[in-house]
Amino acid sequence: MTARRSVTVLGATGSIGRSTLDVLARLGGRDAFAVEALTGNGNIALLAEQARALGARLAVTADPERYGDLKAALAGSGVEAAAGADAVCEAAARPAGWVMAAIVGAAGLKPTLEAARRGATVALANKECLVCAGPLLLAEIARAGGRLIPVDSEHSAIFQVLDRHADPERIILTASGGPFRDWPLERMARVTPREAATHPNWSMGVKISIDSATMFNKALEMIEARWLFGVAPERVEVIVHPQSIIHSMVGYADGAVLAQLGPPDMRGAIAYALSWPGRGDVGLERLDFARLARLDFHAPDETRFPALRLARAAMAAGGGACCAFNAAKETALEAFIAGRIGFLDMARVVEEALATLSPVGEVVALPDVFRIDAAARRAAAGFCDALAA
Ligand code: NDP
Repeated sequence: MTARRSVTVLGATGSIGRSTLDVLARLGGRDAFAVEALTGNGNIALLAEQARALGARLAVTADPERYGDLKAALAGSGVEAAAGADAVCEAAARPAGWVMAAIVGAAGLKPTLEAARRGATVALANKECLVCAGPLLLAEIARAGGRLIPVDSEHSAIFQVLDRHADPERIILTASGGPFRDWPLERMARVTPREAATHPNWSMGVKISIDSATMFNKALEMIEARWLFGVAPERVEVIVHPQSIIHSMVGYADGAVLAQLGPPDMRGAIAYALSWPGRGDVGLERLDFARLARLDFHAPDETRFPALRLARAAMAAGGGACCAFNAAKETALEAFIAGRIGFLDMARVVEEALATLSPVGEVVALPDVFRIDAAARRAAAGFCDALAA
């Protein structure tokens, strides 16, 4: 009998977390995997249910106020309970060989770094880690001899078609264009959070769905790709591909372009990250090319979707500008979800916050990230307040 592989899922109760548990079940469940830790935040009932079902050693909520609820929900299960941001980091530090990093936002950075520090294989869904602290995370992975396997479908695609013997000439990220791909600006100005959270092709968490609608998600992915694949920012391109069948492409010096295709289902990328360097069948639908018949492409409209231009400016500015970009974006997104600012205001807030903070200092160590993150949140909150007044 082969030993069970030990795994931890950070952000187990979220969209990626739930898909990860589904993939674990399809690839052998408790016979194949020993779950070291599962973490969540507000959804205590689901976290406890997941931990019981998988026989996890530890379940952690990031919310310190919910410790009692979690402890009660796990009573008699033998699963240890813990709460608070530090406990999430401790969960990541426990000895699981494979860690899914699927906490949403900059809150995922510290726990992901913990997993990297001890040489784990980190399946990275949380793009904010690379956006805010790309060089720091890559240095930890290299120092500890661990591995980073991308889970974002675009980056998983690129990882799958990278020719290890040739430098990529260009990385081409595909974007669905979101639900407002063809909407005029006047109509986009009136978009509600509920409309923005409904993605045409992918089933995802609320925040990333809204980020897809503004194309801030693609903007973060450009920054993520730059660090993951070690390419200059100007080599990272974006093309709108409404069907989301080509998950991304890599172009080489001879003009050849390699693409990875599949159904728009995150379980494909998660299963790949779990099975690498092999491939695991989790029963995804097979592409039927005759039925697909056509694949469309067009250039993104950066007037209606300024996020891409702003990300390029942040990459060009260097230092902590990408970290500030993400923090301002997260602040504007919260204000939009709360109904305080409009859909188009999100990009305005990010642009104004970046202009106010420029030049953003260098990121040499983790405290720099938190300092820049906090300053950008303050600046963005000020602009949100002014817009909401
Ligand atoms: P969700 O919002 O669905 O889930 C987020 C997870 O993080 C939940 O488990 C949530 O707990 C937990 N969480 C929330 N706040 C905190 C906090 N402060 N500290 C610790 N944990 C917290 O997000 P997604 O699954 O959609 O996305 C997760 C990450 O993966 C993001 O970075 C996203 O950009 C990336 N990603 C997502 C894709 C998708 O298809 N969804 C595709 C590619 C990348 P709870 O629910 O219990 O409150």
